[in-house]
Amino acid sequence: MSRAILTLNSGSSSLKLGLFTEGLQTLAIGHVDRIGRREAAMKIADAEGRALPVPEHAPNDFATNAQALKTALEVFEADFPGLEVIAVGHRIVHGGIEHAAPELVTEALMKDLARLAPFAPLHQPHNLAGVRAAIEAFPGTPQIVCYDTAFHRGHPFVADTYALPRAYYEEGVRRYGFHGLSYDYIHGELARTEPELHAGRVVVAHLGSGASMCALMDGRSVASTLGFSALDGLPMGTRSGELDPGVVLYLMDQKGMGAQEISDLLYKQSGLLGMSGVSNDMRTLEGSDDPHAKEAIDYFCFRIKRELGAMAAALGGLDGVVFCGGIGENSSATRARVCAGMEWLGIEIDPEANAAHARTISTGKVRVMVIPTNEEIVIARAAKAVLAQ
Ligand code: ADP
Repeated sequence: MSRAILTLNSGSSSLKLGLFTEGLQTLAIGHVDRIGRREAAMKIADAEGRALPVPEHAPNDFATNAQALKTALEVFEADFPGLEVIAVGHRIVHGGIEHAAPELVTEALMKDLARLAPFAPLHQPHNLAGVRAAIEAFPGTPQIVCYDTAFHRGHPFVADTYALPRAYYEEGVRRYGFHGLSYDYIHGELARTEPELHAGRVVVAHLGSGASMCALMDGRSVASTLGFSALDGLPMGTRSGELDPGVVLYLMDQKGMGAQEISDLLYKQSGLLGMSGVSNDMRTLEGSDDPHAKEAIDYFCFRIKRELGAMAAALGGLDGVVFCGGIGENSSATRARVCAGMEWLGIEIDPEANAAHARTISTGKVRVMVIPTNEEIVIARAAKAVLAQ
């Protein structure tokens, strides 16, 4: 029987899984999409990205997140017979002010994390439901939680606050930043492979369905475009990104919209989808002739550029830029657009290296890199470390 660490990232309609040996070698990465819908589907790949067989399933097998986990585990067991899961690591979107490092799940901790649900109502309850489902699937097995906010908790005060009366800051209305597991991975990769750059001033652009940027000084987060919620900063697949709060007041006062309606608008109907009216998916937008698709991409790239300049100012200069996430890793067009006209900042890229998705794509004094992120391994490492304590 071989011992393994399982990682889970449970969303509202998706479940991402990672399976690792005790020595942290990747065995498989899987994801189930569109949970609760007829088109729900599961994909599993091995460490080299080769698809592993997934047997036919009834739609009911993915009816709920807990059911999807059960089904996914059956598939894992068929592909890797005799596995013994010794720990389960979970991605939790919000750790609030206090939870700044991975930790072992207890009933008291679950209650504390549930109290943070109003800070991330669309994510936190699903993350916690994933933990509950895993406790049921693996009773007695240590469950470890890793927070997407933890990497940013060392933000200096000016990058952590809003200009509201102080009492709001004290009760937790702060800039938490998110995508912390991804930034943690990139910081680790820079430390391992580019120590000089790691010791300098680097902006990381995590551009996926959710998108954000993080300014790293000596490997520590000093500013992030995501703030209190997952809505701030860059436009995303379906989320608006930064918005003048006056717009929300206008929607309430003049349109009579309530919190739920506004939440749906800002989280689910805006961003690339809302602007283009075509799709939330960058690949589809890049292939579209629709002028609104082009404008959505224009706005996305403009905002990344603007934030890059702002972060360079926050860092007092710039030594490196790292692109990651589905768009950052795969869309050479986005990278080229973001870097165009940035020579004043020392950014120049080699079109051929960019088109080839090379690890380093720059020719100028600022090192521009493409580093595929890996949130699952960050969770697995954390689970192993907590287990060893
Ligand atoms: P998630 O945040 O759900 O993990 P990903 O990091 O997988 O998202 O990123 C999804 C985004 O990456 C989508 O907009 C998708 O279109 C985009 N993407 C993936 N591959 C490419 C590609 N080859 N060219 C352009 N965009 C891509």
